[in-house]
Amino acid sequence: MSLLSLLFVTAATAADLTVRMLDIGQGDSILVQTPAGKTVLIDAGDRGSAVVERLVSLGVDHLDLVIATHPHADHVGDMRHVVQALPPRVYVDNGLPHTTKLYDELMASIEANPAIRYQPASPGMVFNLDDGARIEVLWPDPKKYLSDTRSDLNANSVVTRLTHGKDCFLFAGDSEEPTEQALVREKVGHCEVLKVAHHGSRHSSTSAFLDEIKPSIALISAGVGNRYNHPGEEALARLGAVGATVYRTDRDGEIVVVSTGKGVKVRTEHGEGDDALLVVSAVPAGSARPKAVASAAAPPGAAAPRLAAALLRSASVPSDTPLADADIDTDEDPPAASAVPTLGEGDEACPFPGSGRSEVFHAKGCGNAAKISEANRVCYESREAALAAGKRAAGCCHP
Ligand SMILES: [Zn+2]
Ligand SMILES: [Zn+2]
Repeated sequence: MSLLSLLFVTAATAADLTVRMLDIGQGDSILVQTPAGKTVLIDAGDRGSAVVERLVSLGVDHLDLVIATHPHADHVGDMRHVVQALPPRVYVDNGLPHTTKLYDELMASIEANPAIRYQPASPGMVFNLDDGARIEVLWPDPKKYLSDTRSDLNANSVVTRLTHGKDCFLFAGDSEEPTEQALVREKVGHCEVLKVAHHGSRHSSTSAFLDEIKPSIALISAGVGNRYNHPGEEALARLGAVGATVYRTDRDGEIVVVSTGKGVKVRTEHGEGDDALLVVSAVPAGSARPKAVASAAAPPGAAAPRLAAALLRSASVPSDTPLADADIDTDEDPPAASAVPTLGEGDEACPFPGSGRSEVFHAKGCGNAAKISEANRVCYESREAALAAGKRAAGCCHP
């Protein structure tokens, strides 16, 4: 472990939560570590095995939750390696299939491990991490995926809000302007730390959205000299106009935001000593906050640190890799009665498809049913037959 890694590991106290934007070139990968040792990874970049190597060097021995914001390579390029080396308890994506081999192989590796619970994102889905720390899905809404945008995969990125005490982080994936408009309509409210959408592209971070969020800190992941010229001057100017301090991996290297629950500090890889710390005041009074939901705390010593060098060498880690067994609770809004299956051809001959690997069944035509491999595909003639077989209705299509 390098001296730098040690410094970063010890930058936060046990009661703090950290949000770490890894420096993985052009792409996104963000690690959240809670005071009780819960770990969440949002995206996995596209630089060989860099993300797994960095997680292992940080002593991460398990992942509780993985969120793939959308299936572009700069977000899931290294995800299969992550899923195999550190199988998460829950894997969330935007529910939209992609046409790449990379995507197919990733989904096959998730399906091949029954210990991983796959859940497509929908608004109102909440993951309670520790007391006082939770992640809430704000976007996309599978009942009204955005279409005819510059990039529908970007526009339907999984957007999440992490709250820890009074601190708030908004992770915007590669959102586009229509996503931002939808979030403004939903009145998502102030959040002090913004993971800037789409690497600071000029097509995102609109003034209307930034006026809604009013971030004090903006985090941008972009590769040095990237061919897209991310971040764009226009987005940087708009971030400056709302008073956000911008941190970017192409200049600052890895960025760590330490949250005490009463305010945040930023430390960067290229910063110098304590002078690199920026103390930001806590949330202004009157800001809208999602109500906190208590959850069981993690049992002490849930999983002993296990720096398995083998994880780096092998992509075929046994599926019984020990994980912390503390609860990640998922809450979802009750399904709407009129939900319509979305996307995907499905199997015309199969009214209610399911997978031998999964505990749910789908509606005909559901995009997630289309992802089930032929080998694992199970077909139910009726809803009753599926229920009788012990399956439950999938939350994505509400069959
Ligand atoms: Zn993208
Ligand atoms: Zn991207």
